Amino acid sequence: SQQIQFADDMQEFTKFPTKTGRRSLSRSISQSSTDSYSSAASYTDSSDDEVSPREKQQTNSKGSSNFCVKNIKQAEFGRREIEIAEQDMSALISLRKRAQGEKPLAGAKIVGCTHITAQTAVSGCLFGGPGLGHQLFHGEESSLSLQNGRRHVQAAPVLAGVAVFAWKGESEDDFWWCIDRCVNVDGWQANMILDDGGDLTHWVYKKYPSVFKKIRGIVEESVTGVHRLYQLSKAGKLCVPAMNVNDSVTKQKFDNLYCCRESILDGLKRTTDVMFGGKQVVVCGYGEVGKGCCAALKALGAIVYVTEIDPICALQACMDGFRVVKLSEVIRQVDVVITCTGNKNVVTREHLDRMKNSCIVCNMGHSNTEIDVTSLRMPELTWERVRSQVDHVIWPDGKRVVLLAEGRLLNLSCSTVPTFVLSITATTQALALIELYNAPEGRYKQDVYLLPKKMDEYVASLHLPSFDAHLTELTDDQAKYLGLNKNGPFKPNYY
Ligand code: NAD
Repeated sequence: SQQIQFADDMQEFTKFPTKTGRRSLSRSISQSSTDSYSSAASYTDSSDDEVSPREKQQTNSKGSSNFCVKNIKQAEFGRREIEIAEQDMSALISLRKRAQGEKPLAGAKIVGCTHITAQTAVSGCLFGGPGLGHQLFHGEESSLSLQNGRRHVQAAPVLAGVAVFAWKGESEDDFWWCIDRCVNVDGWQANMILDDGGDLTHWVYKKYPSVFKKIRGIVEESVTGVHRLYQLSKAGKLCVPAMNVNDSVTKQKFDNLYCCRESILDGLKRTTDVMFGGKQVVVCGYGEVGKGCCAALKALGAIVYVTEIDPICALQACMDGFRVVKLSEVIRQVDVVITCTGNKNVVTREHLDRMKNSCIVCNMGHSNTEIDVTSLRMPELTWERVRSQVDHVIWPDGKRVVLLAEGRLLNLSCSTVPTFVLSITATTQALALIELYNAPEGRYKQDVYLLPKKMDEYVASLHLPSFDAHLTELTDDQAKYLGLNKNGPFKPNYY
């Protein structure tokens, strides 16, 4: 097992937002995106929206009322969406098949807080159903997901034995109410936590600390949630082992790079119909996300510039054939500006003032901090909403800058996340749950851990059959020569 040294990592983690920052971000994304994906509305009775789900009496086909969604009658539409998602989540399905004999989560009672989309519903059904042997999975919702979520999807897992408390357009109060309903259940107490953002863990700490007596572990998915866990650990307040899924190789190397490589183009096309060939684009930050964005834009014939603060990443950009520049050098000539740094105020008002007419500005990095949007909310500038998630900010001389998603994450606000990438994440979460739940006493202490490398490799191997990829096996002689076990792990922990 790999234990993360907190002191070394702290500096890295301090740049991430506070709880309030993240919640307000997720809230605003969800609010401003209610008008996208309007096709979902065609299945929905609009009168339905006027009554808060909290006020409704609903019962599912099994006679249970232990859930709260917008409209349980839409479960059938949700099930169809889930079936589509399942087609690209074969690894998760095969994990379910492989586990059927052993039932590695028999007796596990999982309470979870995650975005509810068709893809997370696939894992939710997996957790709720008999597949891995769990007794029950209490699903919960964070509003962040809802820009992608179709409300009928939320109804479907309810039928698979998952008690879901979630709906589109939850208020802040609803959000915490939903969490509470998942934790504070008569006659049922969770023994595992599956969290995404740390809100559920925070709630249990604040309101029901005694629940931790039965909890065997926390699996955390997000940067923010992981940051909070490290804070708890540092303060000596973490009372159960926690698995940091966010920093597992299968997440970092796939979610950040490949997901952004696909969704940057989708997000820009959907919002602006821009043609990329010959366009001058500057990408700020050449980490995993920046690399993905640059690769996609280059492939479509855009002229791509990169800005970096780190000489290693700058050199990588040079070796990949990109011009590394300061933003101020190119800001007058570029057609698109994309931020991917995880930092704040990378695009300032000064940069915005110097942009040419019709320049598109968007953020693929962190939260809503990378572009100084506040500096644009000044009386001398006019804002014109031209489409959902697209604002023209107009200067007194008539110059317009096209601001996407008000500086929030472009792909989360304006496009969808590829199902296959979510399958990798969900499989990693499932294995983290299995590992923590089955670990012998003493293997994990009250600290934050990375998933053992071998499990990361297992997640990857489960996805290889989708490509009919065939791994080469080490010979005994080769394994000895490299000092490796033939069955892995094949890379050192730091890889
Ligand atoms: P990373 O650390 O690998 O890359 C960020 C890069 O930005 C680093 O190389 C850093 O040197 C550089 N940088 C920092 N400040 C800069 C500045 N002022 N100017 C130019 N470069 C600067 O991180 P990553 O994995 O690429 O993730 C970047 C951000 O994107 C994070 O906030 C992450 O949470 C977020 N993210 C977004 C998505 C998405 O779907 N949009 C997916 C994964 C991660």
